[in-house]
Amino acid sequence: FTNLCLAETKEAEQEMLNSWQRLGISCDWDWIYRTIDKTAIKTSQFSFIELYKQNRAYRKEAPSIWCPECATAIAQVELEDKETSSSFNDIQFMIEGGEKITIATTRPELLAACVAIIAHPDDQRYKKFIGKKATVPIFNLQVPILADKRAQPEKGTGIVMCCTFGDQTDMEWWKAYNLPLRIVITTDGKLTAKGYEGLRIKEARKKIIEDLQRLGLLKKQIEIKHIVNVHERCGTPIEFIVSKQWYIRYLDLKDKFLKLGEELKWYPEHMKNRYDNWVKGLQWDWSISRQRYFGVPFPVWYCNKCDEVNLAEKQDLPIDPLTSKPKKPCKCGSTEFTPEKDIMDTWATSSLTPQIALKWVEDEEFFKKMYPMSLRPQAHDIISFWLFNTLVKGYFHHKQLPWKNAMISGWALDAKGKKMSKSKGNVIEPQEMITKYSADALRFWASSTKLGEDLWFAEKEFVTGNRTITKLWNASRFVSVHFDNYDKRKSAAPTLLDRWIKTKLNKVIKICTESIEQYEYIHLRLDTEKFFWQILCDNYLEFIKDRLYNPDNYDEDEVQAAKNTLYEALLASLKLFAPIMPHITEEIYQHLFKEKEGIKSIHLSKWPKYNEKEVDEEAEKVGDVIVEMVAMVRKYKSQKQVSQKAPLESLTIDVEAPLVDKLK
Ligand SMILES: [Zn+2]
Ligand SMILES: [Zn+2]
Repeated sequence: FTNLCLAETKEAEQEMLNSWQRLGISCDWDWIYRTIDKTAIKTSQFSFIELYKQNRAYRKEAPSIWCPECATAIAQVELEDKETSSSFNDIQFMIEGGEKITIATTRPELLAACVAIIAHPDDQRYKKFIGKKATVPIFNLQVPILADKRAQPEKGTGIVMCCTFGDQTDMEWWKAYNLPLRIVITTDGKLTAKGYEGLRIKEARKKIIEDLQRLGLLKKQIEIKHIVNVHERCGTPIEFIVSKQWYIRYLDLKDKFLKLGEELKWYPEHMKNRYDNWVKGLQWDWSISRQRYFGVPFPVWYCNKCDEVNLAEKQDLPIDPLTSKPKKPCKCGSTEFTPEKDIMDTWATSSLTPQIALKWVEDEEFFKKMYPMSLRPQAHDIISFWLFNTLVKGYFHHKQLPWKNAMISGWALDAKGKKMSKSKGNVIEPQEMITKYSADALRFWASSTKLGEDLWFAEKEFVTGNRTITKLWNASRFVSVHFDNYDKRKSAAPTLLDRWIKTKLNKVIKICTESIEQYEYIHLRLDTEKFFWQILCDNYLEFIKDRLYNPDNYDEDEVQAAKNTLYEALLASLKLFAPIMPHITEEIYQHLFKEKEGIKSIHLSKWPKYNEKEVDEEAEKVGDVIVEMVAMVRKYKSQKQVSQKAPLESLTIDVEAPLVDKLK
């Protein structure tokens, strides 16, 4: 089974690598990590041993959150809320002395697990019953009637069963009043209660309701919709089952975790709220053992004689306790051991990705140099899983944050804003879109939302993306014609229109740089797009065409200035576009700029730098008037349906007095 799983991960890994490379994701492909190879297992086991020694990892037999479908313990973070149809059942209980009370429950199948009846101490209806005993119908169990402030008088009939275990409050009552344990559900979700043996939870519920009805003990039944906790992986309502599990103790550190959350720089900032809410709502220590087969084994054996935990030696890691034995006898002298069969939850390992990637257990010097990392990029749905757990491990092992910044993205949704899922059949495969449009068009679409916001699928964005690619290509072809003998080292005084576009360019560089430094790629894309289409292509290229095609009509300086400015503006546009559309920008760079720039890839070249000295507010103002004029003339000609080339007899320009001279 493990081998099949490993083969499957190899295949998936290759697929993932292909997709990422096809998308142009910029990584060092010689340096990738896996969360199931030797290094990962070693790191994970090493971390566990460290935490055990810090008295943070502990094993305990206690009620734990359990998925009866997957037949394993799970962690709080794996719970999801799901609205479910159910019924509230009013069931009659007899009280000693012959009186009756009615208890409302959605889980009558837990009657056999009832260990007490509880009402609020101020609830006048039930005051007289406190301290007496009630009889659980069908099963004839005698249970005490207790008063506790956690009972809610306004809910149902105001008096409730405490069962082992229906919910978190049951557990608290069970502990607080030292109640007995009545286990009626097996680890695979079947009843053990007499008369209902072997029935699944839902079947048992149905049968018990029928039986209560027949006995005249079901007083009322109302259909309801309510929120139940389900396992996020399979959608099954969870149970609380007593079992021996490994936990990481961390509930005592909530304040510390909130402080660390403050230290982390969040992009966008509001994502920190999700982290805070998660930490504040933590109710369970981190359950890390799973009753499954494929995963990282615990480096643990138990002594058969004294039950002592015997850990593997660090230098022997990675180990599998199922196939190896401790090298030393137990401290009691025994050499008979039972291996831990459970495996660690996947997040117990994924929480160590900085340590795995930076070779924590293999190259201490290197690790010290590189840790903490600068950035964690991830989506918002796993803040409570990946981000939080990684932060926890970073704190336990290194007493500091694993990274300085967290960049939290949204989800890609379908065209109606619905989550894509195989079962709904609304999945749009990235590979298909890449084949139909291009990888750059897909990235173009992906950059069309603010960081952190979900992104709806919109095919028109792919179309616009491809149009921009074509436009970049065509503009570059036009430019290339004039760059054959171009020498970029020759300086020349820029004309007014050159200064106009240089001003625009520097302003766009400034905005784009500021926004990408905040990981806000949408502004980078929109502002670059606007500059490239409207300023560079629609206007500047037209303005300089005459200088380029008829150089003899101009000073040598004027022609050189046009070329210098064009070179600079196009190269800067490509560089600004490069993070969004890495393929087309690189292609053009290779043809047009590589030789002149002397750097082998646009992605290795320097980011364009804002130069305040090139900002000429006056030139921008005059240039804008010219652009406006040209636009009006173009519009006039197309309205009159005459060729854009047709000369005008006269043109009256109405501008503010100070501009008149400049325009001349
Ligand atoms: Zn499950
Ligand atoms: Zn022992």
